[in-house]
Amino acid sequence: MIMRKTLPKKGRGWRDLEKRMGHMRKGDMDWRRGRHSFHVWYGGDGLFEIQKRAYTMFMQENGGGVGRTFMSLKIMEDEVIDFGAGLLHAPKAVGHITSGGSESIFVALKAARDWARVKRPGARRPEVVIPYSGHPTFNRAADYLGLTIKRVAVGADYRADAAAMEKAITRNTIALVGSAVCFPFGVVDPIRDLARVAKRHSLWLHVDACVGGYTAPFVKKLGYPVPDFDFAVPGVCSMSADLHKYGFCAKGTSTVFYRNPSLAKYQPFDFKDWPQGRFECPNVASTRPGGSISAAWAVMNHLGEEGYLKLNKRLMRMRQRYINGIKAIDGLYIRGEPELLIVSYGSDAFDMGDVADEMQRRKWFVGSQVNPRGIMIGLSLPHEAVVGEYLDDLSRSVTKAKKAGKGKRRRAVRSTY
Ligand SMILES: *Cc1c(COP(=O)(O)O)cnc(C)c1O
Repeated sequence: MIMRKTLPKKGRGWRDLEKRMGHMRKGDMDWRRGRHSFHVWYGGDGLFEIQKRAYTMFMQENGGGVGRTFMSLKIMEDEVIDFGAGLLHAPKAVGHITSGGSESIFVALKAARDWARVKRPGARRPEVVIPYSGHPTFNRAADYLGLTIKRVAVGADYRADAAAMEKAITRNTIALVGSAVCFPFGVVDPIRDLARVAKRHSLWLHVDACVGGYTAPFVKKLGYPVPDFDFAVPGVCSMSADLHKYGFCAKGTSTVFYRNPSLAKYQPFDFKDWPQGRFECPNVASTRPGGSISAAWAVMNHLGEEGYLKLNKRLMRMRQRYINGIKAIDGLYIRGEPELLIVSYGSDAFDMGDVADEMQRRKWFVGSQVNPRGIMIGLSLPHEAVVGEYLDDLSRSVTKAKKAGKGKRRRAVRSTY
């Protein structure tokens, strides 16, 4: 029998609730002390305070139908979209705030599908070709939308292999995807090459900049080498870029962009056969949290270009300390040449699954990778204070893995996503 809790007969006061919640979170991953590898992207306490205040100010307002109900939210959303379009070099772009990277990808694939129905009617069982390193949401969205995903192995540099992707194109192919950066390895795919292939075959090209979109422009401006990845590349049709990752906004906030209105028009859902009349909505959700829009607006205006540059400069310096420290441990190597703040590392000398287990035992919630075996980390501010501690524990974990590894059968690695 399932033992279900019943709704309390009498309500409880805030003090009691706060105490209970404080107690419940005691066993959580301690991201404030940098124990996490992704899941939380933190830009500091000051920014968190701004985010929190701006969020609660519009927490009861509904972001659905913003043009008709809450002009405030409409003004803020338009401004956030303007900022994003500017950063991603898309002067004529149409964009929307969504609930997250997954929704941005969903609606972009929906647009690509409906575009293809008009432009590529020959594709009866539409396929999308993506690199092996692409986010699982492409498969999830394809499953919902009646599309097929073809994953193609990445090159030796862990980037999408444009030539191999071109070979995978058939008459059913409607779109290509590249990431900037991809989640597992933190490298920018060769978007210019993918765009040439897309042009040659008249395909839609989506760039998934969920985790890189709001850091790459600043890292590039700071002088680090970042290949072109956005609408500056002709042929890029749509992009997803998360504000709730390196935009340092509240969770539940991403953006999606289309190069121009003639592509963007395929995103909204339009319907009128019910008692309330016309329902036209670009998003998956109808009711939308006003707070995520107001928090994004406040954070972006608070940081400004200067703030983002400062934060990224600090984070990129910290990243170098991680990279140097990892490289200095015998047997470990960094995968590829990551451009931004995600770093992945592996080994040919011992089982990375053993390293991950030992790190986990030492209370680091590492991002385990299964194929190839490795560990990834998405760096943000809480990781700064623990660089030394992390590297010391990593070095000890490697020593242990070297000993444990001899003659042992490799076990399955558990996913930590
Ligand atoms: C995080 C991420 C996603 C999914 O975004 P959510 O906000 O978690 O839904 C998709 N693609 C990439 C590259 C990501 O980093």
